[in-house]
Amino acid sequence: MSDKTFPTRAEVVVIGGGVMGLSTAYHLAKGGTTDVVVLEKDELGSGSTCKAAGGVRAQFSDAVNVELGMRSLEVFRNFPELFDQEIDYHESGYLFLLEREEDLHTFERNVELQNSLGLASRIIGVEEAAAMSPLASTEGLLAGVWSPEAGHCTPESVVQGYARAARALGVRIIRQCEVTDVVRDGDTLTGVVTSQGDIATDTVVCCAGAWSRRLGEMVGVDLPVDPVRRELLVTEPIADLPDRVPFTIDFSSTLYFHREGPGLLVGMSNQDEEPGWSLEHTDAWLEQVIEVAERRVPLLEEVGMASRWAGYYEVTPDHNALIGEAEGVSRFLYATGFSGHGFLQGPAVGQVMAEMYRGEALSVDVSGMSTERFAGAGLRREFNIV
Ligand SMILES: Cc1cc2nc3c(=O)[nH]c(=O)nc-3n(C[C@H](O)[C@H](O)[C@H](O)COP(=O)(O)OP(=O)(O)OC[C@H]3O[C@@H](n4cnc5c(N)ncnc54)[C@H](O)[C@@H]3O)c2cc1C
Repeated sequence: MSDKTFPTRAEVVVIGGGVMGLSTAYHLAKGGTTDVVVLEKDELGSGSTCKAAGGVRAQFSDAVNVELGMRSLEVFRNFPELFDQEIDYHESGYLFLLEREEDLHTFERNVELQNSLGLASRIIGVEEAAAMSPLASTEGLLAGVWSPEAGHCTPESVVQGYARAARALGVRIIRQCEVTDVVRDGDTLTGVVTSQGDIATDTVVCCAGAWSRRLGEMVGVDLPVDPVRRELLVTEPIADLPDRVPFTIDFSSTLYFHREGPGLLVGMSNQDEEPGWSLEHTDAWLEQVIEVAERRVPLLEEVGMASRWAGYYEVTPDHNALIGEAEGVSRFLYATGFSGHGFLQGPAVGQVMAEMYRGEALSVDVSGMSTERFAGAGLRREFNIV
């Protein structure tokens, strides 16, 4: 079929051309399910993926997130060989800076869990933290938490790598194509309605990020995902920047930074930000960053800003992902609501989604991540996020 012909049916329709949708499509096709169409309402990666800071790690408080992170790190580390695509992966390590006693206790428990799963991480003293990340002031710090097998890479390149590999295996990727309805006949899905035409299918995978709640509503499935603005900036070049700057996170303020070319990428959560659809830059955020930087990264006061942008965190009630297959309708699968840590889980989650579609044993047991948790055992809070 020519790439220009709009498909009228597909075995699987994946909604969303971010890291999750593209990795899922790639893994479906790699496992032999090649009649797959990815629909993206805008451009590939234009949702949250290409707004991400590019941080990749496995240092989490939930065992499933540790496992998804570890498996994904393995892929990021080998991405050029696997996908013939450079992603500028820097294994800079991740350093959390702690100043509250209660955080230290929680991180101690998390480190135990991470080590038991095979991830190298450890609590370090303030002096060692200062030596590792000399740009950070140690004022008021109690300890650091270090994980060497982590770093950052370029989301745009990861998106391109997955998209090219998926296309090579026969996946159709259609941009500027918005899904406006998902059609069901009783308990069975029969197709999707899009801005470019209808596609008959009996399987939809929702990888629509911050926009997922609306997709769920089309099918009658509750996907509790809210968009929450997050802002970032990149500084102008900084003279004598160390070659290796760990991805450093001041946990109590949420300010973080890593090296981005000749400068630093700096992010922080927007304090008191309510869910909503706005990506405007705010002076309030910049003022908050400056206030924290004064104390924690004084160098930032002296450098100019080269660029800034905002994106959406796709936030769930417990800041943990929604991964599963809906009950009561056949077949609607979802991988969404990554609450700010989805880029780093893309490789492993895509594989899990392909396995779930084919009814194979899951490489990571994500059964506890389904939306059923809100009705049953309750929330499953991920603690190690900012
Ligand atoms: C400022 C910022 C910094 C971040 N930093 C990190 C980080 O360092 N590390 C990390 O792991 N994560 C980070 N994240 C989070 C990360 O970006 C997301 O968790 C991840 O990109 C989610 O990927 P996704 O594919 O699920 O969603 P998206 O990339 O948002 O993709 C969903 C796509 O679905 C499309 N879509 C929606 N509705 C429809 C429809 N009806 N029809 C067709 N297409 C549709 C959208 O246009 C979008 O492209 C950050 C996020 C932000 C905003």
